[in-house]
Amino acid sequence: MTTTAQPTEAATAVTTWLAEFGAALAANDPAGAAALFTEDCFWRDLVSFTWNFRTFEGRAEITRMLEATLPRVRPAGWAVTDGEEPAEADGVTEAWIDFETSVGRGHGHLRLRGGQCWTLLTTLYELKGHEEPKRLRRPRGAEHGANRDRTSWLEDREHESRHLGVTEQPYVLIVGGGQAGIGLAARLRQLSVPAIVIDKRARPGDQWRSRYKSLCLHDPVWYDHMPYLKFPDNWPVFSPKDKIADWLESYTTIMELNYWPSTEAKSASYDEAGQEWTVNVERDGEAVVLRPKQLVLATGMSGQPNLPAFPGMDKFRGDQHHSSAHPGPDAYRGKRCVVIGSNNSAFDICGALWESGADVTMVQRSSTHIVRSATLMDIGLSALYSEQAVDSGITTEKADLIFASIPYRIMHLFQIPLYDQMRERDKDFYDRLERAGFDHDWGDDGSGLFMKYLRCGSGYYIDVGAADLVANGDVKLVRGQVDHLTEDAVVLADGTELPADLVVYATGYTSMNGWAADLISREVADKVGKCWGLGSDTTKDPGPWEGEQRNMWKPTQQEALWFTGGNLHQSRHYSLFLALQLKARQVGIPTPVYGLQEVHHLS
Ligand SMILES: Cc1cc2nc3c(=O)[nH]c(=O)nc-3n(C[C@H](O)[C@H](O)[C@H](O)COP(=O)(O)OP(=O)(O)OC[C@H]3O[C@@H](n4cnc5c(N)ncnc54)[C@H](O)[C@@H]3O)c2cc1C
Repeated sequence: MTTTAQPTEAATAVTTWLAEFGAALAANDPAGAAALFTEDCFWRDLVSFTWNFRTFEGRAEITRMLEATLPRVRPAGWAVTDGEEPAEADGVTEAWIDFETSVGRGHGHLRLRGGQCWTLLTTLYELKGHEEPKRLRRPRGAEHGANRDRTSWLEDREHESRHLGVTEQPYVLIVGGGQAGIGLAARLRQLSVPAIVIDKRARPGDQWRSRYKSLCLHDPVWYDHMPYLKFPDNWPVFSPKDKIADWLESYTTIMELNYWPSTEAKSASYDEAGQEWTVNVERDGEAVVLRPKQLVLATGMSGQPNLPAFPGMDKFRGDQHHSSAHPGPDAYRGKRCVVIGSNNSAFDICGALWESGADVTMVQRSSTHIVRSATLMDIGLSALYSEQAVDSGITTEKADLIFASIPYRIMHLFQIPLYDQMRERDKDFYDRLERAGFDHDWGDDGSGLFMKYLRCGSGYYIDVGAADLVANGDVKLVRGQVDHLTEDAVVLADGTELPADLVVYATGYTSMNGWAADLISREVADKVGKCWGLGSDTTKDPGPWEGEQRNMWKPTQQEALWFTGGNLHQSRHYSLFLALQLKARQVGIPTPVYGLQEVHHLS
């Protein structure tokens, strides 16, 4: 006799909810569906319902969204994902779910509280009829049989390289061949969307090679995989910059990307009537005009230096450069170096200069949040991105979705307790920093590094050793605003004079829409508005509340203009949804955007 396992209470709660939810949606009953949510609910949709990235808060917003989208989306097939048992902890039941829309298939994540939905994540992962050629659908490679017109893989690749962008136009042009550009290009290739990536630098990976020589990734390997191609099991935890550069270069070859190195986009304009871009590029010194339908700026969030303009900079006789142009410490042994700024780059550069025997002063202008790398790994990341997480079945894709399932509005509430733990664990470290006069903060609401990153992309240092140099005085710390430079010194507003042979401006980067201003026009940059940030009304992230990061991976106010970027985790995860949006447009699937974001800030 066989016995059948009884469903757990959690599984029953989830299947009951999904059945009721599915029925309300099938009956085209937005209010009925919304009534299945708690009053303080959130529904985050990545493309599947809205062709947009949107988080809806409360039943009224959900009702309005469903009223607008249900007839077109026709969602169905709501079910718990095979092999994923719903689980309950602390009164919250969590489940992985699958569903379909009229045009695609989706994954989702559900949190129930008291039988009602508290948070729902819905994401589109493939378009029907345009599934990626993977696993059972993978290409055969060899074509068995006899064929007089046979061409080899290499001949096909060469044919494509000769013609794309010359006799045939790409559907998508990606400007910027860093990890964001090439990750997106890899996804577009799998979706058969003709795309070219251009980069002004000579070799893929050069953006990492060009950074200061001591740089290693601050994020651990589990967080950093590129789409499709994971790092091998023996890859270092923190990838040295030249190693990641070589990996990215290999990636462009292995993923068969149409990558044009030494190619700079000089200008671009959009023909609204013809729905086409004209992009003037210089390829190996020669002018080429490309006419893609879609233009993606993958030019880097840390790409356009924010260089301050202090009086006297023109008089200063030593070396001075933005941190992005800092070559490393070798030329500065025994020299007096002043580093303006106190975030990641400033600390990295100060540390390397000190190691090479320079006399180093850091100028701290405003407070910085510091977390020790090991502590961040243990407390902040290990549940999702670590060897232990992998061992417990949390794949990278799953970790990305779990992270995405937490609505930005309440994410800080999940983060604050973690940072409280970090504060406790490293109390001695923070006491020492404070005694050295360092102005340290934990974010406006104590939510720490990730929230700072999402809100403004700056204001922190992941400590890999240089903080101790500041705490113990090996790197001198001066607090204040720079007033001006003289021929041989930096002078602060309080009159403090810092003699210098080298000044490094570790003063960060400007908003990505600055790239649009450079390449297209100020008008288009302003039409699109600021990139990044959530509208949290915290430091450097002015309100109103947006709920999603401004302009990233989703439609902008400028038709056919897109932005991608961010850290390796974000460009890996969100590139899928950007690729699907582009694919849908390429094959003529209607993509009415629900709730296109408004512009509240220009930069
Ligand atoms: C010091 C430092 C440390 C960092 N550490 C980490 C880390 O540990 N983990 C992490 O995930 N991120 C880190 N980052 C952030 C980092 O910038 C990114 O993760 C990564 O470089 C972003 O990739 P991207 O593809 O978005 O942009 P980028 O790598 O900046 O690439 C943009 C590309 O656009 C090209 N480009 C610009 N304009 C044009 C044009 N007109 N025509 C053609 N090409 C153009 C540039 O040449 C460049 O290659 C760090 C950044 C810095 C500065």
